[in-house]
Amino acid sequence: MTDQSNHNHSGRKLIIAIDGPAGAGKSTIASRLARKLGYVNLESGAMYRALALKAIDQDASFDDETALVKLAQESRIQLEPTLNGNRTLLNGHDVSSRIRERDVTEAASRVSVHPKVRAWMVARQREMGVGGGVVMEGRDIGTKVFPDADLKIFLDADPVVREQRRMEQQKIKGEVAASVAADLRERDRRDRTRAASPLMAAEDAVVIDSTELGEDEVLARVEELTRRKLEG
Ligand code: C5P
Repeated sequence: MTDQSNHNHSGRKLIIAIDGPAGAGKSTIASRLARKLGYVNLESGAMYRALALKAIDQDASFDDETALVKLAQESRIQLEPTLNGNRTLLNGHDVSSRIRERDVTEAASRVSVHPKVRAWMVARQREMGVGGGVVMEGRDIGTKVFPDADLKIFLDADPVVREQRRMEQQKIKGEVAASVAADLRERDRRDRTRAASPLMAAEDAVVIDSTELGEDEVLARVEELTRRKLEG
């Protein structure tokens, strides 16, 4: 029996929202969960990153909301889930690696503060997830994109642990590590304090603190919560 048949016996296709700060392990958990369920894993952050890349390429100001919305409207941002992770396409070009670079990461957290940019993104994200069978991760999925999601997880961890995980993931040390950690703290601050859809747990989200939990343990908890939803 496959993992998929274990989970899909009820035939219902859930919308699962996974939110939380950078480095809490959202991406890994979301993609592993989606694979087990036979669902699509959509990384909403990749869309903000793709817009940020477009702004960098076009020399647009990260503070110019009107110009950024126009850029978004003119762009074709596609998330393509594949068996080996997600691909992000910007106007047909694969930008999956480029959008993970430091300048784009920083820019993504700046373009995402604008309410009209967010409204455009949220509308696209709803279109992508509306049929269910999705694990969508981000910062505002449970609060804004899918406030009626079947299951909402808020994945958190101690900031120091999140920074360490990021360093290990990116295999960086020394001075570079210190400045990447500082970037992560600043990005966190901006995400939590912005006026439009700040990062926070939805009231009905299950908060999982992964500070002292391994990836497999977190996944097991999320799978158990999913199983209950499918049976309930
Ligand atoms: O998740 P990821 O680190 O790729 O997101 C990059 C940035 O995009 C975040 O720091 C955040 O500012 C923004 N973002 C957002 N809302 C989302 C997903 C990402 O504001 N749903």
